[in-house]
Amino acid sequence: MIPIAKPYLTEEDANAPHDVILSGWVTQGPKVQEFEENFAEYVGAKHAVAVSSCTTALHLAMLVAGVGEGDEVICPSMSYIATANSIRYANAIPVFAEVGDDYNLDIDDAQKKITSKTKAILLVHQIGMPADIDAFRQLCEAHNVILIEDAACAVGSAYNGQKIGSHSELVCFSFHPRKVITTGDGGMITTSNPKFAERLKRLRQHGVSVTDRARHSADKIIFEEYLELGYNYRMTDIQASVGIKQLEKLDKIIEKRRTIALRYHQELGDLDFLCLPVAKEGSFSNYQSYSIYLKENCPVSRDELMQKLFDAGVSSRRGIMTAHRELAYRDLCKDVSLPVSEDLADNSILIPLFAQMTEEEQNYVIKSIRSAFK
Ligand SMILES: *Cc1c(COP(=O)(O)O)cnc(C)c1O
Repeated sequence: MIPIAKPYLTEEDANAPHDVILSGWVTQGPKVQEFEENFAEYVGAKHAVAVSSCTTALHLAMLVAGVGEGDEVICPSMSYIATANSIRYANAIPVFAEVGDDYNLDIDDAQKKITSKTKAILLVHQIGMPADIDAFRQLCEAHNVILIEDAACAVGSAYNGQKIGSHSELVCFSFHPRKVITTGDGGMITTSNPKFAERLKRLRQHGVSVTDRARHSADKIIFEEYLELGYNYRMTDIQASVGIKQLEKLDKIIEKRRTIALRYHQELGDLDFLCLPVAKEGSFSNYQSYSIYLKENCPVSRDELMQKLFDAGVSSRRGIMTAHRELAYRDLCKDVSLPVSEDLADNSILIPLFAQMTEEEQNYVIKSIRSAFK
């Protein structure tokens, strides 16, 4: 069976935690700081704050953005469910807007959904494809709304020549193994705002006034204080040591992913009943996933295609989910109507793409897809 995805992990990544473990300092410490500094430099942000996942990153981003009880935050329903959940953790209300054929938030629909209660727009760079940040930034400025980016899938992607993570004040990344680089689980928030960085660091560690590391390395006794309600959302040094090595390989991983994506474009581009995820002018995708949408004139249904691929030994997955149709959202979403998101979610599939994929494997996937339509 050819898998849908595979983390790119090497001997070097496996060896990285060795010294960390023997040092005795295994939770957030010097390795987390080193990973943060390297990550901030890589994306071109002033600050990076490591946390336990992108989900916890998004929760903290909501809090520092001032999102709270009764506020509305506009986001796509068509995303991994953590996007919308993070808004609810802050006691705010997710207001779902439609997406376009690039699976990213539709700006006209987002604009229609702005009310006097709108506090933020949570912009997702779906499957690594950058959304139109400039347009959303203008919209947010015009309505005095904060822009938060869910860049869980978009590490290493770029928009107008600049890496995702450098454009706005709160950008959240994931290092789950299904994403482009991994620390097992893990997340990062980048910001250019030093006040945000300081508060994020406090919130991830129980709201404490001094870090363990500062206390341990001080030349006098320091007593910590707890300044506000915080959380335990720390990344460990064990994870960060892997992250440092993964980040060094990121450009190489993306190059491989893009080569594979380009071949899919070339080899499937003539099938006019498919929509392929081709990047728009000015946007550079890491191709975290390769999604194909089956148009109405497609000779087979989505489920038939998936079954045929399965029978041929090729993994595929249903397209990106919609949150509003899940049980966890039923009460909140009684009146929600999102026909475009539902159609995209119901008629698209993800096909195998991973950096180690061989040419033979990809040829086989392409052949299997093409013969499913015969
Ligand atoms: C994966 C994903 C998340 C959650 O990331 P975790 O690190 O697993 O918490 C959030 N948003 C989007 C768009 C994702 O794809």
